[in-house]
Amino acid sequence: MAIDFTFPEEVENARLVIRKFMQDTVRPKMEELRGQSAGRDAWREAIDGLRQGARDMGVWLPHMPEEWGGMGLGITAVAAVSAEAVKTPMGPYIINCQAPDEGNMHTMLHFATDDQKEKWLKPLCDGKMRSCFSMTEPEVAGSDPTLIQTTAVEDGDEWVINGHKWFTSGARGADFAIVIARTDPDAEIAQARNSAFIVPTDAPGFDIVRDVETMGGGGGHPEIRYNDVRVPKENMLGRRGGGHELGQVRLGPARLAHCMRWIGQIEMALEMLIDRAQKRFSHGSYLSEKQGIQWMMSESALELYASKLMVLHAAYKIENKMEFRAEVSMAKHHVANTLWKTVDRALQVHGALGYSNDSPLAQMLIQARWARIADGSDEVHLMRIADLLMRAYNSTGSVNSAVGGLPL
Ligand SMILES: Cc1cc2nc3c(=O)[nH]c(=O)nc-3n(C[C@H](O)[C@H](O)[C@H](O)COP(=O)(O)OP(=O)(O)OC[C@H]3O[C@@H](n4cnc5c(N)ncnc54)[C@H](O)[C@@H]3O)c2cc1C
Repeated sequence: MAIDFTFPEEVENARLVIRKFMQDTVRPKMEELRGQSAGRDAWREAIDGLRQGARDMGVWLPHMPEEWGGMGLGITAVAAVSAEAVKTPMGPYIINCQAPDEGNMHTMLHFATDDQKEKWLKPLCDGKMRSCFSMTEPEVAGSDPTLIQTTAVEDGDEWVINGHKWFTSGARGADFAIVIARTDPDAEIAQARNSAFIVPTDAPGFDIVRDVETMGGGGGHPEIRYNDVRVPKENMLGRRGGGHELGQVRLGPARLAHCMRWIGQIEMALEMLIDRAQKRFSHGSYLSEKQGIQWMMSESALELYASKLMVLHAAYKIENKMEFRAEVSMAKHHVANTLWKTVDRALQVHGALGYSNDSPLAQMLIQARWARIADGSDEVHLMRIADLLMRAYNSTGSVNSAVGGLPL
């Protein structure tokens, strides 16, 4: 039997090293800084120190090849280490595998020219630059990138970009943006109308209008105007008309990377639920002894278990260069909804404490909400799954290839 759910020794070791680093070094430092109400400079210095610590311990860039200074792990192994890192605030940033840089690194590794890699990817990997991904526009449905209105027009040796974006996460403080813009409005296939560009954020005309205030607070997701932003021809990323394809290649692993981080959060919420339920006494017994509460635990466990299997299988398919679209869509939908439900249950069991900011659950619930919208909303993934199901059925008479292609 070839089915083996254990990780090779080197992956298991990497996971345990990251767990230990997070538990023994990162988390105590974060708690110390929070306890001291440390200022911005103290935070910066501490985080720089922790990032250096991650490099020294060899847990830097788990998702990147060794020649780029990374751990060279495959995406299945990255699933294991990411789920560990996310249990600690800023954990992914400390080891330089945070969104959106992580997805941008994958994209550039795949599509960038050697010069682009040297100029933009290398400093990103070294932790000397930050980046953002600028696709969604307020005026048109982000769910359908063929509607993008931002234009890029050739002028001599340059492209001139004009448009309006928002929710470009991390744009403030980023050194460059990967921008999706329309270059070929007349292309017969709608998916061939857009191209991707590397745009330095200090380029004249790259204007941050405001930080969009969200239910998660301010900052983080700016609205941007591109006013006659000029970039040299060599800043096109990938081929002309390849913006859609680039987005698809980027979003497979990037969506899965989100799922991996969410699994860590789900596990944390479930453990908090169990812990609280076993300590809180009400109406003659502990909450953990009440069937209504046990069902919350069990349903969360069922959904978490399915989440892990889905993520591992989708990662396995990506790593082995197999068709993965249905599996990634299913994983993204299922894990995002499990995150929402599990954090909500944990918050419920914590009562007023869960609703307060004395517990991390309230913030976790707010963060969980965007998981069902960003990187493809629930309904768009369901649409895609249904489409792939019908295609599989119509071409083979079976849905099997669209539900994992498992030998069952
Ligand atoms: C926290 C956060 C961070 C983000 N970061 C980035 C980023 O870094 N870069 C970036 O470019 N974008 C980013 N986004 C934007 C995100 O990718 C878009 O919100 C998403 O693609 C949906 O686009 P939209 O908001 O325009 O919603 P719309 O496309 O207008 O869709 C709204 C709703 O309509 C429904 N819907 C849409 N299409 C269908 C359909 N075919 N069938 C049925 N129902 C449908 C869904 O319920 C959907 O939620 C971020 C969003 C959030 C919330």
